[in-house]
Amino acid sequence: HPDTGGHASGSGLHLRSLTKEFASFTAVQSLDLDIPSGSFFALLGPSGCGKTTTLRMVAGLETPTSGSIVLGDKEITWDKPYRRPVNTVFQNYALFPHLDIFENVAFGLRRRRRKEVDQAVNDMLELVELQTQARKRPAQLSGGQQQRVALARALINSPEVLLLDEPLGALDLKLRRAMQIEIKRIQTEVGLTFVHVTHDQEEAMTMADTIAVMNAGRIEQMGAPAELYENPRTTFVANFLGQSNLIEGEIKGRDGDFVKVDMQGTIVSIPSARAHVTGTPGEKGWVGVRPEKVLIGEVGEVIDAPGNSIPGGTITDVSFVGVSTQYLVRMPWGQELQVFEQNTGRRRLFRTGEQVDVSWRPEYAFLLDHSQDAS
Ligand code: ATP
Repeated sequence: HPDTGGHASGSGLHLRSLTKEFASFTAVQSLDLDIPSGSFFALLGPSGCGKTTTLRMVAGLETPTSGSIVLGDKEITWDKPYRRPVNTVFQNYALFPHLDIFENVAFGLRRRRRKEVDQAVNDMLELVELQTQARKRPAQLSGGQQQRVALARALINSPEVLLLDEPLGALDLKLRRAMQIEIKRIQTEVGLTFVHVTHDQEEAMTMADTIAVMNAGRIEQMGAPAELYENPRTTFVANFLGQSNLIEGEIKGRDGDFVKVDMQGTIVSIPSARAHVTGTPGEKGWVGVRPEKVLIGEVGEVIDAPGNSIPGGTITDVSFVGVSTQYLVRMPWGQELQVFEQNTGRRRLFRTGEQVDVSWRPEYAFLLDHSQDAS
């Protein structure tokens, strides 16, 4: 097992009111984040939201305008980059082309005795499963293998935190998927804190145990992937993480653990824990439901475990995509809902132009503040 320096029991990485201004533009706005030691944390957001700037401040490559960075019980805000127990893996590997793989990985350990270096490098090459490639040059390896060399080189310094800045951005989709699983395995094995920056929501969900969704320099929501997906608190999160149907409604009031909403003429129930509104009767809101949670059936059919049954749908598009069939259903109020149905082979496919009823279990819906843009 590779020597990772025994840092895993630290008490995590903490950003306190971290702010970065470039002239009059605020790239990162008073960020507060607590990243537990040993977690795989993803900073997810669209291009320009401030992810890379945040990562660069943690690495010491960018100076914060205000705020602080604390690692364990030590403030590192003003430490020089090389004084921080932090390493970064970049998208472009940054390997030395004239050195072989062994020497690339050994680079950070120059001052140790030869025998120790050999042992440490071999352990690292074993961790990333490149033992047999030690004497090749970077150019002789595939993109995915080169990225694993970069990972081994970053880990051999025994950092407390490994920062990954879109490390898979240069790889094609299939290799990307394989590397996501591979990096997750390595993180589990070494038990270090990984902070991964990506704009790819599927990548963040695949790899991270906690995701912070960033938008315009701020954190919109933070939580486990399933939590963010099932219970988004903002329309931005609902749309950025997967796809959502957002339907305008008017709140009628509370009934036990549910909020009742008049959704275009049908009264639907939303669990209070997923209703991110004040709940005042007359207030407007967005009823949200994920496409795979929407059930469709023949007109009048009792749909499996119905909750909110809404008649009058018309199929306007059918896309067969292998594991699922994706429908567009035009509702009586003119809106088209996305419906994803798994292809289990247990029922026939609907056809364009057919009339259907639509339903979903109340516990799968969520309710968002209407002052936010739905698109
Ligand atoms: P991307 O995925 O495209 O890199 P990002 O979320 O990582 O996006 P950042 O690179 O952190 O975003 O940039 C955030 C904002 O700050 C952007 O609008 C960018 O143009 C701006 N910015 C970044 N660095 C500088 C700089 N040195 N000077 C001025 N503006 C900058």
